[in-house]
Amino acid sequence: MTDKDCIFCKILRKEIPSTVVYEDELVMAFMDAMPVNPGHVLVIPKEHQQFISNVSSEASARMFEVARKINTATRESGLDCDALNFILSDGPAASQEVFHSHLHSIPRYEGDGVRFHYPNKTGKMAPAEELSAAAEKIKSRLKGL
Ligand SMILES: [Zn+2]
Repeated sequence: MTDKDCIFCKILRKEIPSTVVYEDELVMAFMDAMPVNPGHVLVIPKEHQQFISNVSSEASARMFEVARKINTATRESGLDCDALNFILSDGPAASQEVFHSHLHSIPRYEGDGVRFHYPNKTGKMAPAEELSAAAEKIKSRLKGL
């Protein structure tokens, strides 16, 4: 199930060339054409879904398992890689730019200059009541999923 205009679906259909790292019946992993650092890989499900919640359980589990292996392979590859970030931007407010769910595997190394900015992070512990209230809201929706 692919989308006619989606750039990742076009990559899956081989209408747009990509540099494939791994492919099976559920997922594909390919090099990000605009890498944050060399070795930046995207792992996508073969089903077109914007949100990870809508990707099948089997395909979303496979995405993470493939990313886990790519993590190990990248560390052993000889590329600059002291660490990695896995990033999944699930919606525009989280900086999702291609609306086909994808998991970034980004090699990191000391002094690479990549930074995350958390403007609301104060460095102070949140009150326990605030943590409990948020946890209860999530837990109540988690039941039955
Ligand atoms: Zn797509």
